[in-house]
Amino acid sequence: MADYYGTLGVRREADADEIKKAYRRLARELHPDVNPDPQTQERFKEITQAYEVLSDPEKRQMYDLGADPFAPGAAAGAGGFGAGFPFSDIMDAFFGGAAGGARGPRSRARRGRNATIRVELDLSECAFGTTRDLAVDTAVVCPTCSGEGTAPGSHPTTCDVCHGRGEVSQVTRSFLGQVMTSRPCPGCGGFGTVIRRPCPECDADGRVRTRRTIKVRIPAGVEDGTHIQLAGEGETGPGGGPPGDLFLEIVQRPHAIFERHGDDLHCTVTIPMVAAALGATLKIQTLDGPADVDVRPGTQSGQAIPLYGQGSTHLNAAGRGDLLIHVTVETPTKLEPEQEAVLRELARLRGEESPPGKFAPGQQGFFSRLRDAFNGR
Ligand SMILES: [Zn+2]
Ligand SMILES: [Zn+2]
Repeated sequence: MADYYGTLGVRREADADEIKKAYRRLARELHPDVNPDPQTQERFKEITQAYEVLSDPEKRQMYDLGADPFAPGAAAGAGGFGAGFPFSDIMDAFFGGAAGGARGPRSRARRGRNATIRVELDLSECAFGTTRDLAVDTAVVCPTCSGEGTAPGSHPTTCDVCHGRGEVSQVTRSFLGQVMTSRPCPGCGGFGTVIRRPCPECDADGRVRTRRTIKVRIPAGVEDGTHIQLAGEGETGPGGGPPGDLFLEIVQRPHAIFERHGDDLHCTVTIPMVAAALGATLKIQTLDGPADVDVRPGTQSGQAIPLYGQGSTHLNAAGRGDLLIHVTVETPTKLEPEQEAVLRELARLRGEESPPGKFAPGQQGFFSRLRDAFNGR
């Protein structure tokens, strides 16, 4: 991904003003009028692209989250750098419209904004993918004027002030001699045309706000925080311009049993001490349905039983993560006299007698041997 902060030479925490200043300084240095060689022009394009992203709070946030609005393929079909890009606006802002010198009228059509919506999914929907009908509040092309912004039956007419040039020139005398300056036409705002009868539905904007439903396929393996880019599904631009992109931000709902780490799932089961010693079969509800899990005799507390390939599907790759069942062995806290007797008998058979005080002296069991060892006998 392009390093936009580095390109402009600003810190990641830089505020809007710092970014603007950095861009302005570099733009003056690298402007094609000053420095026409191709390498400088390329560099100029880079800083302008970086500024385009970092000066727009929405794009900047997206970039900080790891999505590059200008990455190859990202804006495909929606007009990447150049096409729907309000390049001339930036030039106007910094060079008072005198930038190119030979610019024509600017287009009313501009690229629409990107939009982000959050989509809440269950763990199994994240793991296996799903399709969703999403209601999106967005701007669409005005059906009354088809984006032109004019009332039905009328069209934009050529501006009387600039005769369609979009800019007006003025010759002034100064101590340097005659200086010709041009600026955007005040009559038409630089568009070269004026809308005399605005569309009543969109008030000349060329678009209206509406709620539409789109069907989206969410790939298997997404997780909390994954961003999915849907090119061209964002807001339609003003003046019938191309739409921006729609970003889906995945929010994974917590699962009652499983915790997800990457594509592995983890859960904890508690089994009684005797089951851990003798072995047992557990019934576990996995993402794929019920499963019998063998607990081997002699399983220790803290041991994990892996079910390979029972985790989440890998995003954009073959295979799945694992399911790890962490075993906690439960020691009984309260024993019936009969149970205690059985355990004492077991301890005797295994040579693991109880600590001193309970048994008659002279018995050489495990604990008394240990005690003797400590006492140096
Ligand atoms: Zn309209
Ligand atoms: Zn004009």
